[in-house]
Amino acid sequence: MRRPLVAGNWKMHGTRASVAELIKGLRQLALPAGVEVAVMPPCLYINQVIQGLDGKSIVVGAQNCAVEPVQGALTGEIAASQLADVGCNLVLVGHSERRLILGESDEVVSRKFAAAQSCGLVPVLCVGETREQREAGKTLEVVGRQLGSVIEELGVGAFARAVIAYEPVWAIGTGLTASPQQAQEVHAAIRSQLSAENAEVARGVRILYGGSVKAASAADLFGMPDIDGGLVGGASLNADEFGAICRAA
Ligand code: PEP
Repeated sequence: MRRPLVAGNWKMHGTRASVAELIKGLRQLALPAGVEVAVMPPCLYINQVIQGLDGKSIVVGAQNCAVEPVQGALTGEIAASQLADVGCNLVLVGHSERRLILGESDEVVSRKFAAAQSCGLVPVLCVGETREQREAGKTLEVVGRQLGSVIEELGVGAFARAVIAYEPVWAIGTGLTASPQQAQEVHAAIRSQLSAENAEVARGVRILYGGSVKAASAADLFGMPDIDGGLVGGASLNADEFGAICRAA
């Protein structure tokens, strides 16, 4: 039985004041015990969030880490070991905004995945196709390649300590959500790609859906057999909406 996970990706949003408000809202939420809940603030605010959520069972993660796991001469980057040091448990790798806007390659994503795991963090590997790729019928090929490159570099066993997030790029921040059937098709393909190499790992890995998830769409998505929760962007900036999404998982 896979424990659902709902993770809020705050992206590059927030100020000290708005983060304090959001923490206040999160502290007041009644969260379901059977669901793991995480938030991923901008790095600058991670300490504030960890301290502010002290005693509340919400895990804190980061949105990115350096390719090098340990601290050193890499100006402007943050090492996975530093994220672990301040109390993070999870880190996103390969978010489409980083792949597409910042040009992160599959190779860089694999290195970040490995760096995270080497420091005891759980990487959340984001995969997903653009609108053009979907319209060209290439969704499963693209997602399969993104996943395959990590399997090739690190072996399928690495997914025993990782989470996957399927996030169609055309659904991120657009208000368009994949239908539960569209999402399920890709989630099932991801699981079967893993299963071809290791059925136990495939059965155990959590695969989240991300892309304009709202309280109104969450229950139908999370009701699909291979959808184990959500990666939530915009809606995670509103504590009440985020709480309702967590309760739908
Ligand atoms: C995301 O950034 O991971 C995301 C899913 O964003 P949104 O929910 O806003 O589409």
